[in-house]
Amino acid sequence: MGFFIRSLVAQNSKHVWRAYSTAASDTTVKAMVYSSYGKPSEVLRWHTYPLPSLTDDTVHVRFLASPINPADVNQVQGAYPLKPAFEQLGDAKAAVGGNEGVAEVVATGKNVSSLKVGDQVVMARSGYGTWRTHAAGPPEDFQPLPQSTNTSVIQKATITVNPCTAYRMLKDFSPLKPGDYVIQNGGNSAVGQAVIQIAKAWGLKTVNVVRNRPEIDSLRQELMDLGATHVVTDEELGTHEMRSKMKGWFDGKPPLLGLNCVGGKSATEMARYLGHNGHYVTYGAMARAPLTLPASMLIFKNITFHGFWMTRWTDQNSADERLKMFEDLVGLMDKNQLREPRWAKVEWNEDAMKHAVDAGIQGFTQGKQVVFPTSS
Ligand code: NDP
Repeated sequence: MGFFIRSLVAQNSKHVWRAYSTAASDTTVKAMVYSSYGKPSEVLRWHTYPLPSLTDDTVHVRFLASPINPADVNQVQGAYPLKPAFEQLGDAKAAVGGNEGVAEVVATGKNVSSLKVGDQVVMARSGYGTWRTHAAGPPEDFQPLPQSTNTSVIQKATITVNPCTAYRMLKDFSPLKPGDYVIQNGGNSAVGQAVIQIAKAWGLKTVNVVRNRPEIDSLRQELMDLGATHVVTDEELGTHEMRSKMKGWFDGKPPLLGLNCVGGKSATEMARYLGHNGHYVTYGAMARAPLTLPASMLIFKNITFHGFWMTRWTDQNSADERLKMFEDLVGLMDKNQLREPRWAKVEWNEDAMKHAVDAGIQGFTQGKQVVFPTSS
């Protein structure tokens, strides 16, 4: 017979007490967990524990697919502001890795009316722990995705972080009209590719800065095929030739929105292309170098510098607002205007997961690494 325990879990970037049933169901959860911070391959481990029994007020879900995002890696390293809850999972106190994924509802308690068996859901907030086969909890932990006709499991598993970040940054900082330019670096990142496609669907033009590489021509073509207006390497960015080229492209109307995924020197260089009263939004720091800003950009050009964090947006906005965004994004996906990100399957076993998480932040990868927890 089970009883209820209270456990401290992450919610809205804070920790709150939650009551759990300790009675076990027949299902064994397999998960990638960690009990202390450090190098992912050293602290992550495979763990099995019994799924808590269904109660009248809870649901059971089974995970279909979960990606490995850069923030997940930072979180395992202890370098991410959203700290996971280290909960009692069977015989271990641990946190389940991962923050994003799509799951299917497989059972609902008799008092649950907001979800039904077969619904596909995403996590209601960051920090849930998605590298696991199953989870049990109140329906408020999950949010159903809108119906779609043409959205793959990969698109559903990766919708809450990258496409949502691109969508919000294009919508919330500068009132843009069709024909306006947006400039971004990290143009080849999953966020960058979502920016390219959403901007194109909304009639916006994009200048996309990417790292130079031997196969730059094929990358350029790939991003143009997605809808990029121009693709520029970080080496070209500060040159005289590029400055005069861009002047021609902008034709007196320079971008009023810049999106910075990278930081460092090329991010400073990119800010120089913004027009007066423009907005520059930093959401990533892939180069791990500080962003240096000439005072003139603030004093004379009156550029406003912002930070954006999807986790904060989700905490501060209602589930209905989030659903509206999902509907718009799924609408674009259904029309093939927002495609599946480049992705690579990670086998659902300890070694493959450790390797993938270690590699997950290094760039020049084959695309978003995705694990299918229940399929193997
Ligand atoms: P991806 O794994 O898809 O892409 C990572 C990108 O970073 C690649 O384009 C890669 O370039 C680039 N990169 C890696 N290392 C460097 C480096 N040293 N210098 C310059 N560029 C580098 O990542 P995501 O799209 O999932 O995320 C991109 C960034 O955005 C991450 O920092 C992530 O944490 C952040 N992010 C922030 C969010 C927020 O709410 N603030 C939400 C979502 C993401 P290349 O193509 O050349 O390999």
